[in-house]
Amino acid sequence: MDGILKFNFSKQTKISSIWAFGVLCAAILLILITAYRFDRLLYSSYIQQVRSDTYFELLEVRESFEEITHSQSLVLRELATFISENPGVSQDEFAARVKNIRGLDDLMINIAAAPDMVVSLIYPAEENQGALGLNYRENAEQLPAVLRMIETGNELITGPVNLVQGGLGLILRAPVYLPDADNPAADDTAQSLREPWGIVSLVLDYDQFLIESGIAEAEEKYDLLIDIAENPDGGQGSFVYGDQSLVGQDTVNLAFDFEFEDWILHAITKGGWPETSPDQWRQRNIMLLASLVLLGTLLYILWLSHTRKRAELLLNMGIEALEDGFVMFDDNDRLILSNSKYRKIYDLPKKVLKPGTPYRNIIMAGVESRQFPPSTPDQSDWIERRLRLHRSGDHIDIETHLIDGRVVKASNHPLKDGGYVGLRVDVTELSQAKEAAEAASEAKTNFMGVLSHELRTPLTVIMGVAQILKNTRELSKSKELSSAYDQGDVKPEDAKALLNELYDQLDGLMARMTQSGEHLLHLINEILDITKIESGGLIIEPELCQISDIVDPVAEQLKTLTVKKGLDFEVVQDAETVFADKVRARQILFNLIGNAIKFTDAGFVRLIVKTDGDMVRFEVHDSGMGIPEDQLESIFDVFYQVDSTATRRAGGTGMGLAISRSLAELQNGRLTVSSTAGKGSCFVLTLPANKVFT
Ligand code: ADP
Repeated sequence: MDGILKFNFSKQTKISSIWAFGVLCAAILLILITAYRFDRLLYSSYIQQVRSDTYFELLEVRESFEEITHSQSLVLRELATFISENPGVSQDEFAARVKNIRGLDDLMINIAAAPDMVVSLIYPAEENQGALGLNYRENAEQLPAVLRMIETGNELITGPVNLVQGGLGLILRAPVYLPDADNPAADDTAQSLREPWGIVSLVLDYDQFLIESGIAEAEEKYDLLIDIAENPDGGQGSFVYGDQSLVGQDTVNLAFDFEFEDWILHAITKGGWPETSPDQWRQRNIMLLASLVLLGTLLYILWLSHTRKRAELLLNMGIEALEDGFVMFDDNDRLILSNSKYRKIYDLPKKVLKPGTPYRNIIMAGVESRQFPPSTPDQSDWIERRLRLHRSGDHIDIETHLIDGRVVKASNHPLKDGGYVGLRVDVTELSQAKEAAEAASEAKTNFMGVLSHELRTPLTVIMGVAQILKNTRELSKSKELSSAYDQGDVKPEDAKALLNELYDQLDGLMARMTQSGEHLLHLINEILDITKIESGGLIIEPELCQISDIVDPVAEQLKTLTVKKGLDFEVVQDAETVFADKVRARQILFNLIGNAIKFTDAGFVRLIVKTDGDMVRFEVHDSGMGIPEDQLESIFDVFYQVDSTATRRAGGTGMGLAISRSLAELQNGRLTVSSTAGKGSCFVLTLPANKVFT
């Protein structure tokens, strides 16, 4: 048992440690994965923030870019309208007109017009002489775009271009048409149907444009690319800005709101998006700290649970090691724990003893398995009483007699929180021993009473007779004889007769004295036998002897008693020899037949002797009062007598059968009884037929 407990304990502890280790590893893994995911999340949210900042910053750039180009193209359109209305405009008129156009500022380098595709009008004229005479028809690079512009009627932006007057420029161009001769007011005639006059162009200082549109400033922070989403001329004559390598990269994109072309501004922080956030290490340190705190907490919880499990195991082991049943209930009368001994005592199914089971259910299960014998016929009443007793919260100490005869001592000790612990001790043996001791003590008390009576009766007789014999002259027959002699005329035969009568009287007295003496002697012998048997000092000397040597003297002696009581007495002897102590065998038979006669008022007493295998059976049958079934074994206890008037009438001390059984066993035999109360008994003495070699 100890071994099993130890083994289970270490096994359980090992399982709990492995489990804890597994949980720890899983937790570390989970924390690592979470930390990684969190780190990535923080990074992507940072990148998201950077992209959004980029977007908003570049939104402003785009706005000012659009504003500048819109206002400049408005200038061009105004000029185009003016020329369209005055197709033969001179250089002076052109210069005067341009001067008045709003929006003429530092940004603008010059403004020119090319009637019939040849630049011939320019303002300011002095600084831009070099541009005069430029024939677009001969400029293969720009011609397709210019032709397309004329065809669609849209403006065109081209740049950056190296200017003849030096520096870089951004050129905005717009087509100019002659008014529709058929319908000069109509503005919406399809461009392709209108006759082109030429083109007007406006050259902006490229660097200044970049500064004013905010691109130059944004360039310090971002890599930029302004790209044309869809360019039917393969980019010829279009505006190109920035780093072409941004194409295909994960950039922030902003579309321009131009009618003539779809432009997109691509932007990315310098050298690509940042690979780490500036807060990264601070965030990682916080995560590390949080992870360590989490791990520490987990370790603490695991340690607590391990310690608790260990304590639980130790407690379970402790209560399992108890010899007695142990049970614990909470303040709601619900089971907390119990040991297997408790279950065994009440023979309860395992499922009933699950923690949390109400006490009522346990009691009911006990009643069902017939382990709680209700003292009243009404079981529910008994159950309610038990529950009330339980709830009383008092210290309880009761003995329950179970149906199977076992006695269980139940003691409950209340706990401070309203629950209680209970111990269940199987005190069947103790209770039986107590009952036996009580019975023995009662028997001894009875014996003292019986013995004193049994001793006093013959002693009184002896004393009485002795008293009479002290004064033989006072005997009635002595007095008769003496008065006959005093009268002097006594005849010798009368005197003889009187003398004989006196002798008879004396014989009678002496016989009574002898009988009482024998009775006393018998009692004393029995006491001596009991003492010797109890001290182990009784010596038995068995030998192979004739059965008739044992049976005949007993039958002879007791026959007169049966005759006196009017009983049929019969001896049937079907065996010859037995291996026994002749004297002690006689003593047993004397006791058995003596009892049979004593407790039989009418009918018969019969002794049957026969062989039964290796044994010889001596059966003493009678038709007497019989013995109640529940006392069939008790009558072999020393001093035990069936408590009845017949026993009291018959006398005796209750030692005979105890001595007889011991004597039988000392001779390797047995003494048993069967009886039916009111009908008779049969005592069977078996003794070995031959010597027994042990
Ligand atoms: P005692 O006869 O001196 O009382 P025993 O030990 O011989 O003592 O017998 C014990 C008891 O057994 C008797 O008192 C009697 O009650 C019962 N008993 C023994 N033999 C018989 C019998 N043949 N018939 C009925 N009762 C008997």
